[in-house]
Amino acid sequence: MEGLKEIVRACTKCRLHLGRKNAVPGEGPAWARIVLVGEAPGRQEDEEGRPFVGAAGRLLDSLLREAGLRREELYVTNLVKCRPPGNRRPRSDEISACLPYLLSELSALRPALVVALGETAGRSLSQALGIEWRGLGEMRGRKRVGALGGRALALLFTYHPSAALRRRELGDLILKDLTLAAEIARGNPPGDPEDEPHSQDHP
Ligand code: SF4
Repeated sequence: MEGLKEIVRACTKCRLHLGRKNAVPGEGPAWARIVLVGEAPGRQEDEEGRPFVGAAGRLLDSLLREAGLRREELYVTNLVKCRPPGNRRPRSDEISACLPYLLSELSALRPALVVALGETAGRSLSQALGIEWRGLGEMRGRKRVGALGGRALALLFTYHPSAALRRRELGDLILKDLTLAAEIARGNPPGDPEDEPHSQDHP
């Protein structure tokens, strides 16, 4: 994983390297049971070269604590590793260029669960892992099982914490989903959550 981080820090495979201060590789222990995948680094992450250290990251940390999880026990990364200008959404060719790094991280870590944060990460990961994407409103709060390198990989979808900075009610939904993620990762989810929403409270 250290070798991969160095490759990411030096990467020039897409135009996003032109405006970055720092590429932002994933961060967390190799034994992490849960991997969180956001969309892209923001301004603060670009400054520091670390994922989820800005306002959205602070909210994420708070929600993780409420869900009974500690940031130190998770691996946190992004769909693309360099900040898009003005925090725009990453473009499809940028995602295609960067996706192999994320898939390499997931192959190496083999987590019990991947939690995709937000529409862009959710859709891209679904496509890469062979899961039909039906929009975040319908997909969130449900565990799905995809495949990576011939191995099953469980995913859960939820909103990105930056969305909850603008719409506070989404924070409650993210908290429910992270609580479910903790239960799945511990191996005792309530019932069989696959393909079943754990709440009907989509906004
Ligand atoms: S976003 Fe990804 S593919 Fe593009 S330059 Fe950065 S590390 Fe390389």
